[in-house]
Amino acid sequence: MTLHRKPLCWINVHRPDRRTVSWDGLNFVGTCNCCGTAIRRAAKNDWRKDWSPSVIFKLAA
Ligand SMILES: [Zn+2]
Repeated sequence: MTLHRKPLCWINVHRPDRRTVSWDGLNFVGTCNCCGTAIRRAAKNDWRKDWSPSVIFKLAA
């Protein structure tokens, strides 16, 4: 039994549907495979509900 396979959307841990994943210039974004929410990759294997990236990051892009 693997905890990682359980939907953890209620604690803001999502799994991307790989067909929807794309690069927006700052992060990978996609749609959650479990709940359909727009999600953004914070770190490797760490997908969170999409947030508005800071203007500071946009200056570096
Ligand atoms: Zn989800």
